Formats: sequence, C-alpha cells, structure tokens
Amino acid sequence: MTCYTDPELFFDPAREGEAVEACAGCPLAVSCVARSEDEEYGVWGGSTPIERAARRFSRATPNTSGRDQAFALVVELCAERGITTVAGVAAASRIRWDVVAKRMNVDATELDRQIAALRAEGMTLAAIALRLGCTKDFVFRAVRRPSGGGVAA
Ligand code: SF4
Repeated sequence: MTCYTDPELFFDPAREGEAVEACAGCPLAVSCVARSEDEEYGVWGGSTPIERAARRFSRATPNTSGRDQAFALVVELCAERGITTVAGVAAASRIRWDVVAKRMNVDATELDRQIAALRAEGMTLAAIALRLGCTKDFVFRAVRRPSGGGVAA
C-alpha cells in the first residue's frame, strides 16, 4: 500500500504507525524524505509531522519566529494526538525535556518534585538526567532550588 492507493491513511494521526510502515516498503521513500522536510502535515517518506517539525525547530536559529513557529507546530501536533505533558511532548519530538518545559511555561516545581523524589530514592544526578531525558545541568540547577530537594546554594 502507498499514499497513492490510500491517501487518507497518510493524514490520519491515529494510524500514523501504519503509514510509516507503508513508507518503509515504498521504492520512493528516499527521495520522498528529502522532498517532504517542509511539509507540516501527513506522513511522508516514513517521517511523521512531529519529527519534521522538531527537526525544523532544531535547525532554526535561536530567538527567531521560525523556531517559535516550529515549536508551536510540535505542540499542536502533539495535542492532536492527546499528548499534552512536558514529558510526552519531549518524548514524541525528541526535543530536550528542559527546553520543552521552558517553552511550555510549565511550573518548574512540578519537574522539581519529580527530581526530588528520584534523589530521595538515591539516584545520582546523571541517572536522573538519563531517566527524565534532560541535561545534568538542568538537574543540578533544579536540586539547588528548595522544591528540587533543598540543597543549599
Ligand atoms: S515514501 Fe512517499 S511516496 Fe512512498 S508511500 Fe510514503 S509518502 Fe507515499
């Protein structure tokens, strides 16, 4: 099956996995990926719209409207798929968790609470960063705040 025989499949967020699989067997996949980087919707060449928007976000120059627009699209596409948490958006887009949190204006104390709980279990900062998909620096800064475990500055 290809997008020529069942085009609706390739624009149905609920069947994205099926569309990606269909692309895997398509002889046009390589050229399709190259031509689809700026497509906002649909599965093209096996890439999902969230993946492409996240790539545009990563490529865009910091503090530009292009970067803001790409992130807004990531959030919109995630929401269409029922993904609304920081961790969910970060996992779906593979954009760093702390970057997503900052851009989504999420109350840092929620992240801090999770970090504090993992510290209480005896995890190292590096292990926490790995578990939560954020940087060690982010964890370090979090644990210095009272809500992140109370390590005095
Ligand atoms: S690789 Fe491109 S042409 Fe082939 S099925 Fe997927 S979207 Fe269609």
